[in-house]
Amino acid sequence: MKVTIDQHAGFCWGVVRTIDIAEEQMHESPELYSLGPVIHNPMEIERLRARGLETVSHTDFERLKGKTVLIRAHGEPPSTYALARKHGITLIDATCPVVTKVQERIRKFYDQGYQIVIFGKKDHAEVIGLNGHVNNEAVVIKSVGEAAAVDPSRKTVLFSQTTMDKPTFYAIADALRERIRDFVVGTFEESAIDFHAKDTICGQVSGRDKKLREFARQNDVMVFVAGRTSSNGKVLYEICKDENPRTHFIEVESELRPEWFAGAGTVGISGATSTPQWLMERIRAAIESLAPSSHNH
Ligand code: SF4
Repeated sequence: MKVTIDQHAGFCWGVVRTIDIAEEQMHESPELYSLGPVIHNPMEIERLRARGLETVSHTDFERLKGKTVLIRAHGEPPSTYALARKHGITLIDATCPVVTKVQERIRKFYDQGYQIVIFGKKDHAEVIGLNGHVNNEAVVIKSVGEAAAVDPSRKTVLFSQTTMDKPTFYAIADALRERIRDFVVGTFEESAIDFHAKDTICGQVSGRDKKLREFARQNDVMVFVAGRTSSNGKVLYEICKDENPRTHFIEVESELRPEWFAGAGTVGISGATSTPQWLMERIRAAIESLAPSSHNH
């Protein structure tokens, strides 16, 4: 049985950058706090925790006076920066530059009076951050069905959380365009209402679809490794599963089942943008050690 790791899997550069910033900072002074889990991967969190990175939440700010807190790649709303100032906390801002750019763009439209629509998940840290930059007034939707929540009488701009899928984004954009057009016709508005769709899905995520499909096709069985809370992991896993029905999702090697590999000649391992390379290598070793038992049947 041949086990291969997808050469395109692993950390995106934004996540590499965040972890580099955290490690550099811990090198200087080991006491560092991360506001929320630094990455959607419990195994990598554990590795960093062993080096001194402790995960905290906003409610811990009060007891962290004078300490240093890391802002992870997802970014934060302006209120977090204000809260840190209030409690005398030093922030190390490791927001991914791609996310910072979206925050700036969304803010610009908001200042011009646009209704802001975000295609994303309400509770996702990045969306909470983006929404904070527009006074928490954005309409957050994650499906075409939810497009009804958008007010068609206002000039509108649609943005996306960076890790969502493109087909749904464009389906939502079409649905909104139609809704606004129907409104214009129905109310005899003289001019069309302004609508923009800004595809802010990160290239690090969308560019991987094609390569992952190819890789999933090349293998008899696929093992997809990601944290269960990773959005990007879910999207990529679905793509993988769509291409190869013998795809299994795991977070850690103890979840591997020998029966998955029955009769398989090739096994591919892939992961999300938050899956560390060392973890995929450990999983490869674990699968290789399972191989003999799968031949016993
Ligand atoms: S997926 Fe893109 S936006 Fe998200 S952290 Fe990576 S580089 Fe940044």
